[in-house]
Amino acid sequence: MDGDKTEVVAILGAGAWGLSTALHLIDAGYTNVTVFDQASEVPSPYSGAYDLNKIVRAEYEDEFYTELALEAINRWRTPFWGWNFHQVGYVVATSSAAPAKAVDHLEAALSSIKDHPVFAPGISSLNKSEDFKKIYWQFSGPMTGFKGYLNRLAGYAHSSNAMADLHRYLVSRGVKFILGAQEGKAVKLLYNTSNPSERRCTRFQVASGRVHQARRTIVCVGAYAATLIPEMGSFVIAKCWSVAHVQLTERECDYLRGIPVLNVRDLGFFFEPDPATRLLKLCPLGAGYINSDANTGLSLPPSGSQRAPKDYIPASDEKKLRRLLKETLPQLADRPFVDQRLCWFSDTSDSEYCVDFVPDTGGSLIVLSGDSGHGFKMMPIVGEWVLKLLRDGRQVRPRRQFRQTQKRDADWGNDVSWRIGTTKEIREVVEEQDRMVKARL
Ligand SMILES: Cc1cc2nc3c(=O)[nH]c(=O)nc-3n(C[C@H](O)[C@H](O)[C@H](O)COP(=O)(O)OP(=O)(O)OC[C@H]3O[C@@H](n4cnc5c(N)ncnc54)[C@H](O)[C@@H]3O)c2cc1C
Repeated sequence: MDGDKTEVVAILGAGAWGLSTALHLIDAGYTNVTVFDQASEVPSPYSGAYDLNKIVRAEYEDEFYTELALEAINRWRTPFWGWNFHQVGYVVATSSAAPAKAVDHLEAALSSIKDHPVFAPGISSLNKSEDFKKIYWQFSGPMTGFKGYLNRLAGYAHSSNAMADLHRYLVSRGVKFILGAQEGKAVKLLYNTSNPSERRCTRFQVASGRVHQARRTIVCVGAYAATLIPEMGSFVIAKCWSVAHVQLTERECDYLRGIPVLNVRDLGFFFEPDPATRLLKLCPLGAGYINSDANTGLSLPPSGSQRAPKDYIPASDEKKLRRLLKETLPQLADRPFVDQRLCWFSDTSDSEYCVDFVPDTGGSLIVLSGDSGHGFKMMPIVGEWVLKLLRDGRQVRPRRQFRQTQKRDADWGNDVSWRIGTTKEIREVVEEQDRMVKARL
């Protein structure tokens, strides 16, 4: 199906995956690519990757994803992407209080790479706190019962900068961007007919009411996928995790430069501080939060008058992060957190990505979704999957196909080894915060 490269292609969503798609399409010779985004600038604050940094690692217990991630890492280590890649190493650990699932995950992650020819030379086991102290000589915390390993092949990427750089580059290559809440926000996909054998997505409407025509529409709106394609709500849910930061002084920032990413599976993870903002970014680990609509059953990021945490993170997450700091950098453990927020992504129950044609649309509509909170690292190669889809006319990789629907139940995602804990509704978090504020009065 390697078709007409002059066809009108509309990419809805200028997040990590939409930008990657635009890049690979123009590199392959497509000449008429327009990217729409509801935000007025790129990176969009609605993007799950609107952030200082994201982990780039390749240890998956699943060889398929390990190989994809290795391909991505090889791309990060090139002059085009390398500005935003920091191969500082990645330490995975558990604390003395870790539940069995976290310990099992760590062992499985290690065994997936310890004999792998590419990783093995860069892996060191860390069996006691003294081993951690050798790597993190700056840490004065006890790191009680920490066990784990260091993977030198991994690190992190500056996600907002990577998106900003790619946006600038794409503009210079002639990709058009239509941004903003009125002209850039897609609100409805329009089809020529409802007859499945002839149905094509031929147009879409943006919030201003304007209608755009496209031969190919590629939906990359992350956590918002079900707003445009409601059927997706049966196998992709919008979910969020907390993000918080500690503001450092220049000297504190310099002191911590070059530390490997530390991921303590039962507590959370943090990165070397960002030299431009001097922020130390932290994320607690857990099963995340969803926002289910009682009528439709869909989980979507809160909108309109819906209440959602703003300038605070759930109390249990804050507790985990403060414990993580006490164990590592106790001098920061009581500092106020700044820029606290919830960050949304699209989650599948088995953590598989979905990059596929929407069925019964004659190849006119493609969706990229289900990043499951581990898709940023793939940014350099995601667009290649779209090209393969266009070339082969069927999904080759990743593996989850659009038709694989899934009933949402309490066990959603429990089989994913790196998700520890139980998913909560956002409204429970808001109610809990209200109770805490009331109790303080
Ligand atoms: C807290 C957190 C930590 C994470 N950590 C990591 C990590 O360490 N490593 C890793 O690899 N991945 C990580 N991820 C996942 C990563 O952020 C996502 O995989 C990645 O952002 C997915 O890209 P995307 O383009 O599908 O979606 P997004 O980047 O979310 O982009 C979606 C875009 O669609 C736009 N949009 C939405 N609705 C519309 C509409 N109607 N019309 C037009 N535009 C619209 C948005 O403005 C946004 O720009 C993390 C995610 C979160 C939330």
